[in-house]
Amino acid sequence: MGRVAPLVCALALAASNLPAQRPSCDICRRAIEGEYTVWKDNAGRRYDICQVCRAHAPRCALCSMPTKNRPVSNGDHLCDACRRVAVGCMVCRELVRGSYTEYTLENGVRHRVCADCRRDGPRCAACETPFARRELSGARGGAELWCRHCLAGAEHCELCLEPVRGVSYRLQFTDGLWCAACFEGSEKCYYCQRPMKARARTAHAGYGMCADCAEQSLSGSEVYAAIARQTEPLLEEALTRPLDLPAVEAVTLGQLKLALANAREGALHGFLDPAVPEVAHELGLFLAQGQSRRILILDALPEDTAWETIAHEMAHAWQFQHYPQATDPLIVEGFAQWVAAEMCRQTEKRSGLERLYRRADDYGFGLRLIDRIDAELGRGAVFKVLQDNAFPAGFGPTPAPR
Ligand SMILES: [Zn+2]
Ligand SMILES: [Zn+2]
Ligand SMILES: [Zn+2]
Ligand SMILES: [Zn+2]
Ligand SMILES: [Zn+2]
Ligand SMILES: [Zn+2]
Ligand SMILES: [Zn+2]
Repeated sequence: MGRVAPLVCALALAASNLPAQRPSCDICRRAIEGEYTVWKDNAGRRYDICQVCRAHAPRCALCSMPTKNRPVSNGDHLCDACRRVAVGCMVCRELVRGSYTEYTLENGVRHRVCADCRRDGPRCAACETPFARRELSGARGGAELWCRHCLAGAEHCELCLEPVRGVSYRLQFTDGLWCAACFEGSEKCYYCQRPMKARARTAHAGYGMCADCAEQSLSGSEVYAAIARQTEPLLEEALTRPLDLPAVEAVTLGQLKLALANAREGALHGFLDPAVPEVAHELGLFLAQGQSRRILILDALPEDTAWETIAHEMAHAWQFQHYPQATDPLIVEGFAQWVAAEMCRQTEKRSGLERLYRRADDYGFGLRLIDRIDAELGRGAVFKVLQDNAFPAGFGPTPAPR
C-alpha cells in the first residue's frame, strides 16, 4: 500500500503542473491556463474548452455546445456530432427540432419539411408538396401556385395556355387538351369543335366558327366546283372508269337539311354525310332524282374538310353511276371514305386524312376494311364488293358462313 500512494500523487501532479501535458482548448487550440470546462457531445466525444471560448465561441444550435464550426446555410452553428444528424427544413430553412416529413421529388431529391411547414407552408397545387414560396410559380391567373417539377411535366390548355390538372378534355380528331373551365365554359367551333375565346364569324344557323377554321374557310359554288374539277381526273384514274360529274353547289345548313328532308319524303336516292360524327354535323349530300344528279356541300367549310367532303360525295356519284346496287351503309360509306382518303393523299390534305382513318364509326370501319381489301386482294376486289354489295369472306363485319 505504501508504494502505491506516491504514484497516484505523481500522476495528479503531472496533469496539473507540467506544461507539456496541460490540455489545449479544442476550439481555439491554445493551451489552457486555469479553469476550463469539459463537454461531451452527443456522440460521446470529449471537448476541453477554455473560459474565453466558453464565453465567446458560437454555440451549436441543437445542443448549445460551443463550437468552432462555420455556420451552416441558414446561419446556425452546429457541432460535429449534431451536424451529422441535423435536418434542415427545405421550406423555412430552419433546423428541424422535432418530426419532419420526407417527400421524394421527381428528380429523386429528398425534400424534408418540418411539421409547421407541412401544416401551414405554401404548397404546389398539383402535387401538394410544401415548398418555399420563391420556389413556386403562379399559374391560372395567380389563383394557384405550382412547383417547377409539376410545371415542367404539365400539359397546357390550348385555350388559356395554363397548366392543366384534374378534369381535362380532348377531342377525337385534334391534338392537345383543354381545362375544364375553358371546355365547359366556352362556345365550340362548329367545324373543329374546339372551344374558342370568341367566334371569328358565324358559320351556319347561329353556330360560331373559330379563327383557324375561318382563315381556312372556302366559300361559294364556284370554288367548290373548281375543287371537284381538280379531283375528277385523279378519281377517274384511281377508279379506272369515268364520272359524270354532277353540279356541285355550296349551300347553307338550312338548305342542306331541307334537301335531305325532301329526298326522304320523295324517296329519292340520297347520302347524307356527317363528317364530324360526335356532333353529327351534316356537311355534304349526294342526290339522285330521275336524271338529275346534285352534290350539295355546306358552304364556308375549312379547306381540308371541303376537299374531303367533295371527294366523298363524288365517290358516291361514281358508285351510283356504276354500281347502284351497292346499298350497305358500311360498303357505301367505307368506299366513299376510301376514295376521299386516296384523294386527300394525292392532294396532300394530311389533316383530313388522319381524321378519316381515326374514325370509330361505320365511316372509319368501312374505310379500313376497303383499304385492307385493296392492299391484300387488289383494286378489282374493291369493285367486286360494290358489284356484290357484300364483303369477301374474312373481310366483312361478320365472317361468311362455311
Ligand atoms: Zn479556447
Ligand atoms: Zn451540437
Ligand atoms: Zn419548416
Ligand atoms: Zn408540384
Ligand atoms: Zn383553359
Ligand atoms: Zn374551328
Ligand atoms: Zn357518304
